[in-house]
Amino acid sequence: MQELTHWIDGKHVKGTSGRFTDVYNPATGEVQAKVPLATVEEMNDAVARAAEAQVKWGDTNPQRRARVMMKFGALINEHMDELAELVSREHGKTLPDGRGDVQRGLEVVEVCMGGPSLLKGEFTDAGGPGIDLYSMRQPLGVVAGITPFNFPAMIPLWKMAPALTCGNAMILKPSERCPSTALRLAELLQEAGLPDGVLQVVNGDKEAVDAILDNETIAGVGFVGSTPIAQYIYGRAASNGKRAQCFGGAKNHMIIMPDADMDKAADALVGAGFGAAGERCMAISVAVPVGQKTADTLIEKLLPRIEKLKVGPYTAGEDVDYGPVITQQAKQRILGLIDSGVEQGANLVVDGRDFSLQGYENGYFVGPSLFDNVTPDMDIYKEEIFGPVLSQVRTENYEDALKLTMDNPYGNGTAIFTADGDTARDFAHRVNVGMVGINFPIPVPLSYHTFGGWKKSAFGDLNQYGPDAFRFYTKTKTVTARWFSGIKEGGEFNFKAME
Ligand code: NAD
Repeated sequence: MQELTHWIDGKHVKGTSGRFTDVYNPATGEVQAKVPLATVEEMNDAVARAAEAQVKWGDTNPQRRARVMMKFGALINEHMDELAELVSREHGKTLPDGRGDVQRGLEVVEVCMGGPSLLKGEFTDAGGPGIDLYSMRQPLGVVAGITPFNFPAMIPLWKMAPALTCGNAMILKPSERCPSTALRLAELLQEAGLPDGVLQVVNGDKEAVDAILDNETIAGVGFVGSTPIAQYIYGRAASNGKRAQCFGGAKNHMIIMPDADMDKAADALVGAGFGAAGERCMAISVAVPVGQKTADTLIEKLLPRIEKLKVGPYTAGEDVDYGPVITQQAKQRILGLIDSGVEQGANLVVDGRDFSLQGYENGYFVGPSLFDNVTPDMDIYKEEIFGPVLSQVRTENYEDALKLTMDNPYGNGTAIFTADGDTARDFAHRVNVGMVGINFPIPVPLSYHTFGGWKKSAFGDLNQYGPDAFRFYTKTKTVTARWFSGIKEGGEFNFKAME
């Protein structure tokens, strides 16, 4: 069996802790690799080496750092299919979705190619008599990225590309469920010219994460994962004096107005609800039709589309719609939540619990499930299911639909489907959610905007990627400078003694 490594000082390094965790093939249930789990000492050693490497990297001019991103971007493109396959092999998502995972990360690398323009700083000419002020953006030093299983390429790239372009060294702690893509990206960064030690990939679990949070050299922590862990990491990092931005879970609502194009709304819901087996923080898990007729029509339109969904392993071809969920434990949790929905009185219109695939009986597949008449007190509404389960909550009018969305503790993404610009505009203006789609189901902003949720979907300030990332990964230093009048007043002909 393959034994994975850490990536330290530009080399693959075996773990020394003696602790490993299994990496599964979710489509078959087989263990395909084991990944080492770092000790506190291994983590601290990696950080100390990164701090040494950072000094020269931080002094390298921004354009040279950006050139590394240019080559890195070219290499990612060249290795797109290989990276997508790595993603799919450990995560289980389809190959087109694996390519999407790499592509949305690559787009952040592309913005970093122009990073110097975001690092320019500010200048005030003549802020007082003979006084100028200028503000510089300087790297934090060593920063850490802690990433989830569901986007093994995209989220590590969202962390490392801006952090490195800003002149920091980074410790990346990828998800122990899907660690291989991050290791491969580190090799490609080295090939692109990143000096050794500037990116260290340290694999591990809670012990490694806690070592990051307590390490005094690490100045900033960027986290993406579930809400309870995001809140924990934010609290511990902040109380140790670190800058932290921690992005958490979601429960994304899509409102369907009576005037919406119902075919387009149903297409959007099927893709956003079941794509990637619902394992996306921007998945739509709650459909909120306005009016009983809209709700009935929506169910009618959804049923044939759900029946047609093709669930299978990524190796079964490009027309597979979604693959298995990540672990046996995740599968059992999802099935348990579907049971609870039935017990608590929701109407299970499509039941995906008994789904089985010939030849893949040990894989973690869950068929698509659709609930109608879900109410906010039910567990299937309250919990982030992170599986292929769509819940319909019926509402009587727009205000009720908006209130439902706003009362939900999560605030990552939301969408409205309508033909009316006035309703769409009102929704975008009033809703307390960070990313809003209008006739657009998964509104992940382009890489030169920023990504971030509100409420329990994010802790800390500043979003991921775009200009916010450049603010997060740099600290501002402001200089107030005064130069006294001197030589420009005219030549001096006396032989002046030094004072
Ligand atoms: P997770 O919280 O279980 O794990 C995320 C990271 O935290 C991993 O690297 C893991 O090793 C580490 N971790 C896990 N338990 C820990 C603990 N007790 N102490 C310290 N560290 C710990 O999340 P996941 O299951 O890998 O990912 C799915 C979650 O991520 C979902 O909730 C999803 O909504 C969320 N997510 C959010 C965004 C966003 O931008 N808001 C994006 C993608 C995923």
